[in-house]
Amino acid sequence: MPHMTQSPEGELGRHHAERAAATTEPSTLPKKLHIKTYGCQMNVYDSERMAGLLARHGYTQVSDAAAADLVVLNTCHIREKAAEKVYSELGRLRVMRDERRAAGDGDLRLVVAGCVAQAEGAAMLERAPFVDIVVGPQTYHRLPELLARRERAAGGQLDTDFPLESKFDLLPESAGQSPISAFLTIQEGCDKFCTFCVVPYTRGAEESRPGAAILAEARRLVAGGAREITLLGQNVNAYHGQGPEGRSWSLARLIRELAAIDGLDRLRYTTSHPRDMDEELILAHGQVPALMPFLHLPVQSGSDRVLQAMNRGYSARDFERVVDRLREVRPDIALSSDFITGFPGESDAEFEATIDLVRRVGFAQAFSFKYSPRPGTPGAVMPRQVEESVRGERLARLQTLLEAQAADFNARTVGLTLPVLFERPGRHPGQLVGRTPYLQAVHVTASAESIGTIRPVEIAAAFPHSLAGRLADQPPVADPLTRGALGAAHGPAQPEETFA
Ligand code: SF4
Repeated sequence: MPHMTQSPEGELGRHHAERAAATTEPSTLPKKLHIKTYGCQMNVYDSERMAGLLARHGYTQVSDAAAADLVVLNTCHIREKAAEKVYSELGRLRVMRDERRAAGDGDLRLVVAGCVAQAEGAAMLERAPFVDIVVGPQTYHRLPELLARRERAAGGQLDTDFPLESKFDLLPESAGQSPISAFLTIQEGCDKFCTFCVVPYTRGAEESRPGAAILAEARRLVAGGAREITLLGQNVNAYHGQGPEGRSWSLARLIRELAAIDGLDRLRYTTSHPRDMDEELILAHGQVPALMPFLHLPVQSGSDRVLQAMNRGYSARDFERVVDRLREVRPDIALSSDFITGFPGESDAEFEATIDLVRRVGFAQAFSFKYSPRPGTPGAVMPRQVEESVRGERLARLQTLLEAQAADFNARTVGLTLPVLFERPGRHPGQLVGRTPYLQAVHVTASAESIGTIRPVEIAAAFPHSLAGRLADQPPVADPLTRGALGAAHGPAQPEETFA
């Protein structure tokens, strides 16, 4: 149900209303759209789809909110004080809109989309009645209709349903130029209900897209210039979409089908749950050359009791067994993970178990946060909340260790020749930025024609978050593990990959 509020619309508003009429048909009137995206890659994907949808209604994207007729904040609820940050941003935009109106310099529509919109719902229109539309992640395909409704009627529009129809069936097909490294959402929502997480409440139940629709979108992305696709899902390896033959496809099956697309050289997927790393998927890491040797696999804690309190459904040993199997089939696989320090009830010894697990496993990258209660989640009302200062101290210790491991991982690639997919120009003239198979950013001096190609690069220097290298004459040796240059078992080997 839309939540109606009084609107300060005047002549301009009525003019817009007449112009919009009672239709959501594509318009040719040029309008300017600014989308500010917070949070995860899925929000980046959703923002691209919103921009594509609104382009059919005459909107072109601008990088500056001050130049826009429509600003969409595509929000994320994961970080601490997420909603407060959105309200602050809305306050700034309201001032900008009021100034513009006072100067007779046009109007500005404000849309809040994404997980904060879903979580706040009607409360957002009560607290910020100047917002025009609040739309959840499952209904943004209705944005043109909501905009038209907003033009016809005073008051903010709210749509935070979990509709039965799939938004993917209703969004226009992406067309035109694609990024070299593109995202493709294959699954949304989550049924796991980890006790710290809002996703099951903001994104709804797990839903997988049919295999044929994913393959078609992947082919369009490749035709538009993509050479790498990252498959996205809140719980991506729980994927179980319907295959064209009517039977359910696993993520491993989908990956094998995608890997057969001509011109698609690299595949990745995120975010995975350790419980859904089945043997078929693990084997794909050893058998599908296009599947890159990098995996983000959140563990959250090394303590079995804490993992149970988080409702994660695995033990530390279960996680390590998955890692061991992955390394058996793909010895150079680089691992990334998520960690939470100071979950309610976490003792010193339980935190030490996390430190021990990190030491045993070794991570190439990681994201770590101190626990912050999310309203509406079971964790927020658990007894024995850990003091803020303790959560912070534990986080600092954990991050010191994780940063040292990441630096060590990067350092061990120095001297190796790795296949780098060049994605875009760097900050300095003549410089390009690309990625290694292990997702490390590499800065290389190379001409712009190399963008979109995979070239051998000799890694010359390692920094905390990136590498520098030079184009190499020779492609990487086929079996670098025999070179003995790699130190620890989880160190980077040189992946097999063909060069364009
Ligand atoms: S599996 Fe991931 S998305 Fe699902 S509830 Fe747990 S943390 Fe949230």
